[in-house]
Amino acid sequence: MRKTFLYNRIGAVEDILRQYTEVTMTVTNLAKKWDVTPRSIQRLVEKHGIVRTIAEGNRVTAKLKNYDALRKTPEQKARRKSLPRKLRYEMMLSAVKCVVCNAPKESVWLQIDHIDGNAENNDRSNLQILCMDCNQGKR
Ligand SMILES: [Zn+2]
Repeated sequence: MRKTFLYNRIGAVEDILRQYTEVTMTVTNLAKKWDVTPRSIQRLVEKHGIVRTIAEGNRVTAKLKNYDALRKTPEQKARRKSLPRKLRYEMMLSAVKCVVCNAPKESVWLQIDHIDGNAENNDRSNLQILCMDCNQGKR
């Protein structure tokens, strides 16, 4: 399979992140559309913070594939109010740098941090963009 670097293709990254976030296309179809491997799609959405793990990605795509087994049970859903994917997407798309150390998006892995430390307080004013090192308290 031909491997084309997605960042060099106009509209590719935005299209993939949007379709993935809104769950309008399967990973397989997105990969076909942009002529890349499904793994490239997964990596891209992870890199942009749309999903944090493969397991979370699987639950997103399960909606399209209708895999009931992969869906969260109501008890699991109730456990923690996670940051809505759409908000995560909007924040990560407009993020340019870490607000603490100013490291640019291109050089670090940016994450969304809950300022008050409460992972359930997803109010926009409680969220900020940090690099992984700052988020983990290494800087
Ligand atoms: Zn930082």
